[in-house]
Amino acid sequence: MSGWKSPRGRVLSAFVLGSLIVLQSACSGAAANTPSLTPAPLQHTGTAGLSGPSAGSTPSRAPTTATPSPLQGTGTAGLSSPYAGSTPSPLQGTGTAGLSGPDADSTPSRAPTTDASNCQEDWCAYEGHFWLERPVQSVMGDDIDPTYRYGSTENGTREAHSGVELQAPAGDSVHAAAGGVVVVAGGDDQAHAVAGNSGYGNVVILKHSFPGLDQPLFTLYAHLQEIDVAPGESVSGGQVIGKVGATGAATGPHLHFEVRLGGDTIGDTRNPELWFQPHAGEDSRPNGALAGQILNPDGSLANLSNVVLQYTRLQGAVALQVTYLQTYASSAQHGDDEWQENFAAGDLPAGWYRVTFVIDGGMIDRQVEVFPGRVSVLKVRVN
Ligand SMILES: [Zn+2]
Repeated sequence: MSGWKSPRGRVLSAFVLGSLIVLQSACSGAAANTPSLTPAPLQHTGTAGLSGPSAGSTPSRAPTTATPSPLQGTGTAGLSSPYAGSTPSPLQGTGTAGLSGPDADSTPSRAPTTDASNCQEDWCAYEGHFWLERPVQSVMGDDIDPTYRYGSTENGTREAHSGVELQAPAGDSVHAAAGGVVVVAGGDDQAHAVAGNSGYGNVVILKHSFPGLDQPLFTLYAHLQEIDVAPGESVSGGQVIGKVGATGAATGPHLHFEVRLGGDTIGDTRNPELWFQPHAGEDSRPNGALAGQILNPDGSLANLSNVVLQYTRLQGAVALQVTYLQTYASSAQHGDDEWQENFAAGDLPAGWYRVTFVIDGGMIDRQVEVFPGRVSVLKVRVN
């Protein structure tokens, strides 16, 4: 893909939350209700409202050699892997060279490449679809705001987020995340764009097609101060399509960015973190991503306010940085068509991650390896 790209490899920047606290502004993509606009700037540390043993720990400022695992010492009894049993799955696990089961021959157009050598009992690494460039490149970086991720309610203080925020000063250029065609460029009074919700302000939607993807992908850029493209226009990846602003329901200048797959309504969104090209890590290898699906005993997607990722670089080692996530809050947020995840974090340094959370009264503790330029998908179902 052509166009601008971040030259920086910032391994830890997504975790440096403290610097964002003062500057952060936010929106709700589904900002039909004004209560969702409460800025709650003091809750942006990512720990407010969290329960459990990790609630008092500091999520940012890695690396740290502090207490490696506040969640340590818990077992995994009572759990089973969806892959461990007889259930046929393209994710089928350990020792399964290649794919097996009825899904093996149904080649999806976007066929994730399962590298069997990277599979473990309950997770597998995929090639992924990191096809999108970062739409802003500001003095505040080009990372997503980690305090209000896709599907997050910011601990119940906001509506479930239909996209991600990228912080940037008003007037900064907004770039097309990929080449495509402009399908919407205007105010959020265009019902086509907002599907019954207001709050986007000036919004651009681009339609993209990618080789091997059998449905259109849309990217949405909201709160724009200025729009520099018109409907029907073709744009190249990286092309300037507008300027960062705070139009619509925004507490300050920032870019609200969405990925929509198959259709361009708010019901078609996916997690942009699983589409952005990862930055280069400290060893110049690209970062990777981790996605997970947590199921209740009845098979439904779990709704958890605190999923903790501890980056340890080596399996079982001391945590170097910690990321706090929550599962996608509502049915308005969709997992990947293939992976059906209900939590995810992109742009993670390659290495081992300890994934811990409390569900059904028990603490779950899993180790997952993240590979450069790939997405590791963990699946856990409580018995
Ligand atoms: Zn937003």
